[in-house]
Amino acid sequence: MEPLLFGTSQINKQGELEIGKCPVTELVKDYGTPLFVYDTALIKQQARDFKETFEALGVKHRVVYASKAFTCKAIYQLLKSEGLGFDVVSQGELYTALEAGVSPEMIECHGNNKSYEELEYAVTNNVGMIILDNFHEIGLLDEITKQHEKTQRVMLRVTPGVDAHTHDYILTGQEDSKFGFDVKSGQAAKAFQLVKEAIHLDLVGIHCHIGSQIFDTTGFSVATEKMLDILISWRDQFDFVAPILNLGGGFGVKYTSGDQPLPSNEYVKQMVEKVKSECNKRNYPLPEIWIEPGRSIVAEAGTSLYTVGSRKDVEGVRHFLAVDGGMGDNIRPALYGATYQAFLANRQTEENQEQVTLVGKYCESGDKLIEDLMLSPTQPGDIIAMTTTGAYGYSMANNYNRNQKPAVVFVEDGKSQLVIRRESVKDMIRLDLDLK
Ligand SMILES: *Cc1c(COP(=O)(O)O)cnc(C)c1O
Repeated sequence: MEPLLFGTSQINKQGELEIGKCPVTELVKDYGTPLFVYDTALIKQQARDFKETFEALGVKHRVVYASKAFTCKAIYQLLKSEGLGFDVVSQGELYTALEAGVSPEMIECHGNNKSYEELEYAVTNNVGMIILDNFHEIGLLDEITKQHEKTQRVMLRVTPGVDAHTHDYILTGQEDSKFGFDVKSGQAAKAFQLVKEAIHLDLVGIHCHIGSQIFDTTGFSVATEKMLDILISWRDQFDFVAPILNLGGGFGVKYTSGDQPLPSNEYVKQMVEKVKSECNKRNYPLPEIWIEPGRSIVAEAGTSLYTVGSRKDVEGVRHFLAVDGGMGDNIRPALYGATYQAFLANRQTEENQEQVTLVGKYCESGDKLIEDLMLSPTQPGDIIAMTTTGAYGYSMANNYNRNQKPAVVFVEDGKSQLVIRRESVKDMIRLDLDLK
C-alpha cells in the first residue's frame, strides 16, 4: 500500500517521512510518541481555498471553522489570521477561542442543549451569533437577553429532511435527528414566530448541516433547494427576508486511497451556483452564504506518530502489532469503524509487506486502529505514521486507563512548535481529592 502523502509530507532520500521539512525521527526525539503532527501550511491552504473560491464568485460569505474537529488556542490563532470565523459548541470551546484572542463577533455558538450558563456566557461575551436549535433554548435566550438588556443576533437551525452520507444522500422528509427544528411538522415556522416575538432576538438567517464526510454534491444541492423553499415561505407568510444562509459543513476528506473527495473549491462553487440560481429563479435577494467546514480544514493536515512495541502472532489467524497509543488518542475506529492508512515512517521500507492488525495499548479488545493493514516488517522502536488523523482525533482524546493525552506539534518550513503539551502522570491526579 502506497503511503498517503498530503501537503508538505514527503519521503526523503533516507526513506524517512518528513512533514513541513521536519523528519519524523527528529520530531519523535524532541516530543516523544504518540504525537500529533500538523502541517500548518496545508491548514492555511485549505482555509484559503475556501475563501478564495467565494471571493472569485463575488458573493458575500463567511467561512466558519467548526472547531470541534480540533480545538486548541493555536489553531484558533492560526485560522484567525486567515480571516475565518469559528463555530463553538460548549463553554469550553468558547473560552478557548476568547483566550486565543478571537474576536467574539467572529464566533457562532452551536449545540443541541446549550445551558443557561453557556448561553449567558455567550451573550455577555458578545458572541456574534447564536444558532438556536430548540424551543427550550429560545425561552432561555429570551430570558437572558431581557435580563442583560442586550440584543443577540441569532439563526434558526432547521432540518430540511436531507441526510447526506459519504456516497449518497437520503430524502427523509422529517429528519430523525436530535438537532434543529423540523420543517415538515411546522416546528420551524413556530420557532420563527417565537423568535420574532422575542424583543431582544434579532433573526438574521437559517442554518442546516446535513451530514459529514460527504463526497457527492447532490445532498448539498437538494438541501439548498429545501432551504430556499423555507425562505420563500417565510417571505410569503411573514414578510421576512434572510440576510444570511448558513449551509453547514461536512465536506469529505481522504482517509484511505479509496476515498475520492472533490477539491474544496468544487463543493463551494457548486453550492454557490445553486444558491444563485435558486434565488434568481424565485426572485429572492442573494443572501450572504456561510459554510462551516471542520474536518476538511484539519483532517489531512494531521498525522499521528506512534512507536511500535509488542506483537502477538496467532498463526493462521492474525498478527497483532501494538503501538503506544490507541483508542485514547483516536477513538474513531472503535467508535464508528472509521478506516485509516498507516506506514513505517522512520526508514527505508521493504518490498514484501505483511498483513497486520494495528492495535493500541488500551484494555479493550476493540482498541484497534487499523484492521488488516499491509505494512513493511517492523521492529520494536520503529515509528508508524497514521495519516488523515487531524480531525476528531485529539479533540475526542480521553484518559481511559489513565493514559496521558499525547502532545501536538505544528510544523512548517523545517521548524516545529509544541502547541499542546503532553500530559504527565501528575496531570492524571490533577482533579483527584484525597479521601477524608
Ligand atoms: C460538526 C459540524 C460541522 C463540521 O462538520 P465537518 O464534517 O467536520 O465538516 C459543521 N456544522 C455543524 C453544525 C456541525 O455540527
